[in-house]
Amino acid sequence: MQGIRLSAVTTGMPLEVDKPVDLSIQSFCVVCKKCAVCCPSQSIPEDDDPKEVNGTLRWKLKEESCFDYWAKVGTDCNVCMRVCPWSHARTWPHKLIVYLTQRNRLNQQLFTFLDDVFYGRKPKAKRYNGDWAGY
Ligand code: SF4
Ligand code: SF4
Repeated sequence: MQGIRLSAVTTGMPLEVDKPVDLSIQSFCVVCKKCAVCCPSQSIPEDDDPKEVNGTLRWKLKEESCFDYWAKVGTDCNVCMRVCPWSHARTWPHKLIVYLTQRNRLNQQLFTFLDDVFYGRKPKAKRYNGDWAGY
């Protein structure tokens, strides 16, 4: 739904225009929704379909309630990024899973289920330990 926060990348490098690559991430998000389920401030929509925002289709984060939560807990929250199945270290089992999830929807359902089994559907928030990220 939103586990990535890109801002902007600028370059003067000459680049060749190629075609979009479908990594099946959007369809995986529709099955997964783990970031939305785990968000302690319910700032991430759980809708199946993205909405048009300023001419772009997206699942729009409620920035105010997210930032309010940061202010309340005294650090960045980061739960949405920590629980995202795509955030796991790229060890060989995870590389295999990424490959298989791009094959079909059945694999996506299987691996979101297995992610819940191995890592928990709603892992407990870790205690703030003084680091900015808190983990
Ligand atoms: S940082 Fe925390 S509060 Fe903000 S959207 Fe992510 S999980 Fe929700
Ligand atoms: S946690 Fe799931 S729904 Fe959220 S960004 Fe990651 S893959 Fe998509």
